[in-house]
Amino acid sequence: MERQDEATQRKDVQRRLKLASLLCFIFLWAEVVGGLISGSLAVLSDAAHLTSDLMSFLFAVAAGHLASMSGTTNYVSGVSCLACMFY
Ligand SMILES: [Zn+2]
Repeated sequence: MERQDEATQRKDVQRRLKLASLLCFIFLWAEVVGGLISGSLAVLSDAAHLTSDLMSFLFAVAAGHLASMSGTTNYVSGVSCLACMFY
């Protein structure tokens, strides 16, 4: 029962991370376009900041996906420890 709760919770976290990634991607491109149109270096530098945020979200999504996989012969307990790095 607890394992199913954990899986449900993991899927919810993954869904939220994907939604955050999508919103970050939209704002990133809005800032790139707005920064180029207005010629604002501040807006463009914030777009660069959003790029690093987006990368961290995507790493977290990838880590969550890897953590949900079962173990292999080399990694008997799976790679669930990866999730500790990002959650
Ligand atoms: Zn940030």
